[in-house]
Amino acid sequence: MSQPKPNTLEQSPLRLVLILACSIFAVEFGLMIFFSALPPLKPWIEAAVDATLLVTVLLPIVLFFVYRPLTRRIQEREQAEAALSAAHDQLELRVQQRTADLELRNREIRLLADMSNFLQACATADEAYGVITHTAQQLFLESTGALFVFSASRNDLEAMATWGELAISPNERVFSPEECCALRRGRAHIVEDPRSALSCRHMAAHPAGRYLCVPMMAQGEALGVLHLRHNPPGAESAQGILTRKAWLAVPLAEHVALALANLKLRETLRNQSIRDPLTGLFNRRYMEETLEREIRRSERSHRPLGAVMIDIDHFKHFNDTFGHEAGDLLLREVGALLATQIRDGDIACRHGGEEFALILPESPLEAVRQRAEELRLGVRQMSVQYRGQSLGAVTVSAGVAVFPEHGGVAEALLRATDRALYRAKGAGRDRVVLAEPCDQ
Ligand code: GH3
Ligand code: MG
Ligand code: MG
Repeated sequence: MSQPKPNTLEQSPLRLVLILACSIFAVEFGLMIFFSALPPLKPWIEAAVDATLLVTVLLPIVLFFVYRPLTRRIQEREQAEAALSAAHDQLELRVQQRTADLELRNREIRLLADMSNFLQACATADEAYGVITHTAQQLFLESTGALFVFSASRNDLEAMATWGELAISPNERVFSPEECCALRRGRAHIVEDPRSALSCRHMAAHPAGRYLCVPMMAQGEALGVLHLRHNPPGAESAQGILTRKAWLAVPLAEHVALALANLKLRETLRNQSIRDPLTGLFNRRYMEETLEREIRRSERSHRPLGAVMIDIDHFKHFNDTFGHEAGDLLLREVGALLATQIRDGDIACRHGGEEFALILPESPLEAVRQRAEELRLGVRQMSVQYRGQSLGAVTVSAGVAVFPEHGGVAEALLRATDRALYRAKGAGRDRVVLAEPCDQ
């Protein structure tokens, strides 16, 4: 851009002085010649004419070359100052906005970090869902959302945590994986304009709804979907808000996925250490620990505690006749029956081989006997098919003992059930026998 040419007279005080000097010289010189041609005048008249002419000549020069540029400069400076002040105000506003943005971002990062910490301390998935709900409520203030997690069968996803003002209706709480575009695409799916975008089928009840789905991936496996809906669905002011929220939702989904994968792994390891892999019942080690604990509790509360040892009759015969696999199937079926027939708080375990043990807290002898009898009849009525072939009638024998009558410690109580079971076998099997006080 070309710069305006500076007025050389305005720019150069020396030239101005020269012009003024020349003007004075010319006026005075002219006047001297003029007065010398006239008859002598009175000195005051000469002085007055001289002064008047001098002022008349010098005034326009001073006005043009000094006053005019000076006022223009002042005006320009005032305009520049006003522009500078406006720019300063604008800058200040932008700094304020940027500071507010940074503070918001800091808060969001802090919330994410806190959530991560809390998730690491969670022992169960339910605890984790509580932490996620709490964090999401604070992070996504204007949104309603849910955390959908794959069911154990992986056939569908279920809302395990929800937040926000818009209720997620009961029939929206479960959907199949192919109904979600985010899961199909393997990446975040944002629908800011439902008319133009490909919408998830699980959003069919909200055709005008704007939403965001983020798949939760960990160790190469999809664990669920983080879903956000904007409130209210049609507000123009919210244009683009989900895209802005995505920068937060994506790392949140990553943190949650990792935490859920860790919990799942922990749960699997724990199950492996306390469960019998064939029947899914607790193993002997867990049962013995639990029995010690339950006996101490019964001691404190002065309540009885029942123990039952159940053994499948002639099990060797099943193995020999139908094969080991059929025997395993029978063990699984008996285990499933025991698991479903006991109350909450009771413990069923595989004691080893074809023997099962039950712990029934707060149960008197008669109630324990009755429960063992029901189970015995339940097994009798079972019809187990192996490769289309019936395994025939299955019977069990059971020994029943109660704390403190038949044993004051776990070892003595289990010994009493064993002895009662031995007597049940000796008496012809397929029966329940109560322990004697001398069985300890
Ligand atoms: P009883 O009526 O006196 O209890 O006779 P039984 O044949 O049931 O008892 P025995 O102790 O003679 O045989 C138990 C059999 O259980 C022997 C063993 O091979 C079998 N067994 C132990 N564990 C398993 C298992 O995990 N799977 C299968 N299929 N068989 C098992
Ligand atoms: Mg047996
Ligand atoms: Mg046995």
